[in-house]
Amino acid sequence: MFTSVAGRSVIVTGATRGIGKGIARVFVRAGANVLITGRDEIAADKTADELAELGRASGGSVSYVLGDVASREFCRSMAETAVERNGGVDVLCANAGIFPDVKLVDMSVEDLDRVFDTNVKGTIFAVQACVPELSKSGRGRVVVTSSITGPITGFPGWSHYGASKSAQLGFMHTAAIELAPMGITVNAVLPGNIATEGLADLGSDYRATMEASIPLGRLGEVDDIGNAALFLATQEAGFITGQELIVDGGQVLPETLEALQLARA
Ligand code: NAP
Repeated sequence: MFTSVAGRSVIVTGATRGIGKGIARVFVRAGANVLITGRDEIAADKTADELAELGRASGGSVSYVLGDVASREFCRSMAETAVERNGGVDVLCANAGIFPDVKLVDMSVEDLDRVFDTNVKGTIFAVQACVPELSKSGRGRVVVTSSITGPITGFPGWSHYGASKSAQLGFMHTAAIELAPMGITVNAVLPGNIATEGLADLGSDYRATMEASIPLGRLGEVDDIGNAALFLATQEAGFITGQELIVDGGQVLPETLEALQLARA
């Protein structure tokens, strides 16, 4: 049995929907006080309402603050808000990210800047802003949402995205060393294909093709990523830092399509 995270102050960036919402849900369910971020007020309000119900049962709570993680000023005010509302910052889940697709030959400077500003600078700014409070916590935890795309695999249209997801890991390795003396661990979860609200728009054929390429035979759920983040935030994971946890149902394992087919024969 892991030590409870009830009462901890947790920030999840990019949690108005998708994986961030799943991470927030898992922490609220575990009794944590969670501050979620995003830019869409209607979605933030809806998500906070939904999760508040779980908080009433667990003793946890949820609230939101709106802003762009690519702004260092916003990230600072996000950390201040967590202090005002929840008494500090014990856990930061740096999850906000975008994945617009564009082929390399068509990629503009603006395309590149948008992805790096949100995914790389947004992660670094969020961590920087929370370091003083994570340090005071004495058991500070950072969990970065990277991806299998970039660090392990590639996908046409996502060369800039893949580069940004690998860059997050490069950042994490040195941040983990620099923040270790403050008792802060820094780790990353690398999701495979996860069923988010956006996936439904791509149709059932797309979903079926993706499921067929995953050894465990299903897409990931957002709570699968939340559970991995929760584990990395526990006291028991306190000796793990600078590590990458792939959560993909075995998606990156088969050497060839034949390897999957033979296993299913
Ligand atoms: P999503 O459904 O599009 O959600 C993205 C979230 O990030 C939203 O809450 C969005 O909120 C927020 N966001 C985006 N840009 C932001 C910005 N500049 N400032 C603040 N918030 C911002 O995406 P997702 O699939 O859940 O992805 C979340 C993370 O998981 C990303 O880092 C992504 O790279 C990673 N990931 C996803 C998958 C997958 O299969 N879905 C796989 C591997 C990795 P607003 O719209 O309210 O701003």
